[in-house]
Amino acid sequence: MTQTKYVFVTGGVTSSLGKGIIAASLAKLLQQRGFAVTIQKLDPYINIDPGTLNPYEHGECYVTDDGAETDLDLGHYERFLNTPTSQANNVTTGRIYQSVIDKERKGDYLGKTVQVIPHITDEIKHRIQLLGNTGEYDIVITEIGGTVGDIESLPYVEAVRQLQWELGRKNALVIHLTLIPYLATTGELKTKPTQHSVKMLMQSGVSPNILVCRSEYPLTEGIKHKLALFCNVHEDEVIEALDAETIYDVPNLMLKEGLDKVVLKKLHLPINETPALLKWNSFLDKFKNPKHTVIIALVGKYVELHDAYKSITEAFIHAGSVNEIKVVVKWVHSEKLKPKNIAKQLENIDGLLVAPGFGERGIEGKIEAIKYVRENNIPFLGVCLGMQMAVIEFARNVIGFTDANSTEMLTDTKHPVIDLMESQKSITQKGGTMRLGAWDCQLEPNTKAFNAYKTKLISERHRHRYEFNNTYLKDFQKAGMITSGINPKTGLIEIIELPNHPWFVGVQYHPEYKSTVLNPHPLFIDFIKACLENK
Ligand code: GLN
Repeated sequence: MTQTKYVFVTGGVTSSLGKGIIAASLAKLLQQRGFAVTIQKLDPYINIDPGTLNPYEHGECYVTDDGAETDLDLGHYERFLNTPTSQANNVTTGRIYQSVIDKERKGDYLGKTVQVIPHITDEIKHRIQLLGNTGEYDIVITEIGGTVGDIESLPYVEAVRQLQWELGRKNALVIHLTLIPYLATTGELKTKPTQHSVKMLMQSGVSPNILVCRSEYPLTEGIKHKLALFCNVHEDEVIEALDAETIYDVPNLMLKEGLDKVVLKKLHLPINETPALLKWNSFLDKFKNPKHTVIIALVGKYVELHDAYKSITEAFIHAGSVNEIKVVVKWVHSEKLKPKNIAKQLENIDGLLVAPGFGERGIEGKIEAIKYVRENNIPFLGVCLGMQMAVIEFARNVIGFTDANSTEMLTDTKHPVIDLMESQKSITQKGGTMRLGAWDCQLEPNTKAFNAYKTKLISERHRHRYEFNNTYLKDFQKAGMITSGINPKTGLIEIIELPNHPWFVGVQYHPEYKSTVLNPHPLFIDFIKACLENK
């Protein structure tokens, strides 16, 4: 087996420069050149995973097939590479410390003082190499969360330093993503913040091999030369990353700048033909030149932070491109929706997506919105909590169980049409204990779901504790709601539909997690198509 190569991506100057997108774009180009690539994210916070974080804090929690609750960057990795990630692709400081402390309690370090160096750094290095040691990948790209200089990033930078020393620079390289700010008053691009952040890295013993420089304006030769000189790299190792119109432009921008070639050269890997991003570019072309527009209301309680619904909005982009439709998202806060203002709030929409969520806040607004689109024949897609709210709305307003609810919201509700799963009843721990990851679902022919997927057995990702209460199944069926997808082993209802409606589908799972540029999600494709047809 040949040596797996490692690429580390660190960030300097400020957060939110898009390390995840740069990592994913580089990976895309390397993949296109025939290398097997995966991307990993190391997050310096102490939570074991982001599953326990409020989306306002950290955006969406992304879920993998193997049921890991992860950082939303893993969503970008999958959407760009079209290959699944797993638990090993996201590691947090909490997880690192947990394993070290577990080992300490087991006596693995008996007699020794357990310290950040070497014990924590060893564990970090072990986690980085876990992916490489599978033998599945030629190149592992590891994104180090946070910004260089943060106290909590230090052990990661030290682990990178050690790995580079152990493996050699031709097997492990560091890309530093930084910002070149533009000073409008003097009309200049400034390199000083980058110089400082590179110095900071160097103080920790890491000398970055490639600089990727975010900038509003092109970098002149002079600026590139200055950056190279002061940051100890060659001029072709200074890569310009101009602000892009869409994140999906970034692979092309990096290709033009030659980032993939510099990386391959430094890793002593062969540089074969320039990758043709044919399918990718055809997606981009349709995305940028839509023939139609639809407006879809996204009703949720975290709408102030669009990152809380990242995978959903990206799924709209993928499926919109297939249909040559531009999807305009109308962000609607569920807490603001009342019977009195619903028509005004949702006027002019072509479709409604009710988002996932937890807890009681805003649910009555979601129910109100669903009632409105059900009665007005506007296409609807309910995701997870959105599906559960559709069930409650139907129970209250069609079946006549006016007090129907989910036991998540009201424990002693008289009609618990959504109830805690049996397997959840004994669980008291919070993190990683929901029904998570991929589960099978059997589709019923001649339904909207089956027409979308065009296959009987599907597998989709989940993140929930509550489920459709099967004791009420007959009541729903009699009143005209059908169940078009069921877990073949447990009988858990995965999909509900209203056949007498242009397009009304609720899913207990999260289809958005599996939508990628090259594999737009069938349900999103059909939902958006229905929005246009029904306009
Ligand atoms: N809160 C609901 C449950 O736990 C829905 C979860 C979700 O939307 N992801 O079942």
